[in-house]
Amino acid sequence: MEPEKLWKSVLGELELAVSPTYYNTFFPSTKITKIENESIEIFCQNNVSKEILQQRYSKDIKKLIKDRTGQEFDIIFTTKNSVDQGKFITDAPLFGNKNTSTVREQDLEQSRHTSTNTPLKETVSNGLVKEYNFQNFIVGPNNRLAYTVAKTVAENPGNSYNPFLIYSGVGLGKTHLLHAIGNEIFKNHPDYKIVYCTGQEFLNDLMEALQNTRTNGGTIRDFKKRFTDIDVWLIDDVQVIAGREATQEEFYFAFNHLYLSKKQIVLSSDRHPSEIKKLHERISSRFNMGMVADVQKPDVDVRTAILRNKREDLGIDIDNETLDYIANNINSNIRELEGAFTQVVTYAKAMNIKANISAAKQALNNSIVTKEEKNIKPNKVVREVCEYYHLETREVKGPRRTKEVVLPRQIIMYLLKEINQLPLMEIGVLLGNRDHTTVMYGIGKIKSELKNDNFKIKKDISIIKEIILDK
Ligand code: ADP
Ligand code: MG
Repeated sequence: MEPEKLWKSVLGELELAVSPTYYNTFFPSTKITKIENESIEIFCQNNVSKEILQQRYSKDIKKLIKDRTGQEFDIIFTTKNSVDQGKFITDAPLFGNKNTSTVREQDLEQSRHTSTNTPLKETVSNGLVKEYNFQNFIVGPNNRLAYTVAKTVAENPGNSYNPFLIYSGVGLGKTHLLHAIGNEIFKNHPDYKIVYCTGQEFLNDLMEALQNTRTNGGTIRDFKKRFTDIDVWLIDDVQVIAGREATQEEFYFAFNHLYLSKKQIVLSSDRHPSEIKKLHERISSRFNMGMVADVQKPDVDVRTAILRNKREDLGIDIDNETLDYIANNINSNIRELEGAFTQVVTYAKAMNIKANISAAKQALNNSIVTKEEKNIKPNKVVREVCEYYHLETREVKGPRRTKEVVLPRQIIMYLLKEINQLPLMEIGVLLGNRDHTTVMYGIGKIKSELKNDNFKIKKDISIIKEIILDK
């Protein structure tokens, strides 16, 4: 079948399956550009479209192509200017890879703070914090879509995704991205009027203006003017305006005005617009007109990358092992991760010791012990490991010694020692009456894999631990 016909037929079916907004945004201009023995290359118009197709539709596309050709192809998505992409940390193993620069852009333009205290953020005249930029934003599976859209918006304000709304839990990078967009636009268009404000500031200013209107008159008009006479509006934590009548009214007015004049609007919220209670439907539906992207909690790779980046930026002497320890143990959010890093460094400095793993253990004693204190039941460890590897618990307790069972069994041994601090004998009994020497061997095996930077096992264990300690 000709590539063109094949793709047309695939698109025909996708169009029926995908929501129209998605289809019209991401699928037009896609085409098959190469078919080789086992792979098909699909051209996407831009990075966002590429990311979306790759993340959400590659399986479907693969299947639809197989239905039509009878052959299983690898699907490769590309864009014209793929050299311009940010550097993502998708598959690159981080552990044992000394060159952390693969995950960040090289051009650090600013001189960095060397202080280990929370640095005073330097703001430029428009209220933007210079240190929140794209160069020091680590991209991973958890935030790739938000990052890619943010970059696109910054390169083409008002003309790509408008409005653009980022939502996530606390400390996951919304404010950072909003400022990064503002800073980037400011760099390219110093004449643009860029306004950054939080929903709370908007609300407070309005209240003040309303108050002044009663006393002096006139200032509500100034207020209106302030939020309509701009090129880029960045509103952080917009959810706070919900439930406030006057505020939503004014917000709606400003929003519409800017939107209709094709001015870029970027918002952040702590949840999806449809989940914000008491937010007027007409406002939430406007948020959905452009692009909505979420940011998830970072996995251990991203957390490690963030810490390594921070170490380089601040020029601090702290080894990989210690950073891994912090990254493995602090999984709530990035703000806390950064806080833990600062704690360790400050602690080591104050005690005049090296910032190594033992210093980290001492400094973070409280935050980490509380997690491990949680009195986790040994059976839970067995269950979660089995679930992770799709095994029945009776399989790890049984006699089988194939690879698929042995590794999970040894990981269970290792975790029962590490988390539950069970004696070897007890671990043996729990795992189908195995001898304590077998348990000792198993734990040793896992330890040596970890020591040798077995990336896969390191990651598996880290994820399993997260599941066990989180629940
Ligand atoms: P939010 O606004 O979602 O609560 P912030 O943007 O304030 O979160 O992020 C909290 C801290 O984590 C900030 O210091 C920010 O620079 C940092 N941070 C968040 N995401 C990243 C990332 N992907 N790479 C580097 N630093 C990040
Ligand atoms: Mg914030």
